[in-house]
Amino acid sequence: MAKTQRWKVGDATITKVVEIELPGAITWIVPDATPERLSQLPWLQPHFCDAQGVASMSVHAFVIEADGMCMVVDTCVGNDKERDIRGWNMRQGPFLSDLEGAGFAPESIDRVMCTHLHVDHVGWNTRRVDGPWKPTFPNARYLFEQRELAHWQAAESRSQRTVMEDSVLPVLDAGLADAVASDHRVSESVRLVPTPGHTPGHVSVRISSGGHDAVVTGDLMHHPAQVAHAEWGSAADTDPELAKATRSDFVERYADTPTLVLGTHFATPTAGRILRDGASYRFVVD
Ligand SMILES: [Zn+2]
Repeated sequence: MAKTQRWKVGDATITKVVEIELPGAITWIVPDATPERLSQLPWLQPHFCDAQGVASMSVHAFVIEADGMCMVVDTCVGNDKERDIRGWNMRQGPFLSDLEGAGFAPESIDRVMCTHLHVDHVGWNTRRVDGPWKPTFPNARYLFEQRELAHWQAAESRSQRTVMEDSVLPVLDAGLADAVASDHRVSESVRLVPTPGHTPGHVSVRISSGGHDAVVTGDLMHHPAQVAHAEWGSAADTDPELAKATRSDFVERYADTPTLVLGTHFATPTAGRILRDGASYRFVVD
C-alpha cells in the first residue's frame, strides 16, 4: 500500500504520510465494533473491513500546505520511545524518511499541531539525538490546545507521564510551544474546531480554500463504522457521553455536504464524504 496520498482543497494541499497500518480486530479501541457488526455495514468493504468484518486502521500524519505555511497534523508514535503497547515500543520505523521523501524535510515544517496528546499523536514531536529528546521540527511552532495541555500536564498515570516527558515537555523546554484556544485560526484557510470528549481539549482541523472544504477528524472517531454508529465510543474516551454527542454533531454537520472528511485513523483511501442513508449515515470514498 502506498505510504502517501495527496488531496487538493482549493489552493491548499493535504498530504498523508503513513507510519503504521493496523489490520485486524479493532474491539481493543472501539469495543462495540465487532467483526459481526462491521460485516452488517457492507459499504465498509473493501477498504475499511473485509467480508468477515475484520477491520483495518492506520496511524498517519497529515501535512497541510496553505497560505505559505506547512503544518504537520499529528505526529504518530515515533521511534525509540518506551511504550506499553506491543509494536509501538522502541520502534525503529522509516516515518521521518518517508516524510522527507514526500517533500517535507524536518526543517521545512513551520507548524506542528496535535489534535490531542495521546501516544499516537505526539511521537514524532521529538526524536533522540545523542541522548536527550530534541524537537524533530526545529523551525516549527508547535500548537497545543491550552486545556488539553493543562489536562495532561496534571496526569498521574505512569504511561501518560512518560509520553509527556519524552514527546511534549522537551518541546516546551525548547521554547517552541504555543498554547492556543480550541477555535484558534492558524492561517487564512486553516482553523481549529473544538471537538471535545475523546480528550478534554481535543480539536479537529478545518481547511477552507477557494470555496472547497475539508476537515481532519482527529480521534473523535477511529473508524468509518462510527459514522453509522455514533453511539459506539472509544475505549480511550475521557468523557464518553461528551464524545458521543460530539460524534453525532460532527456526522450531522457534515452529512450531505461537499466537505472532504479526512479520518485520522481511517485506512487508505482515508478520505470521503458523509451521506445520509435512510435514518442512518454512511461514509463514501471518492
Ligand atoms: Zn489515535
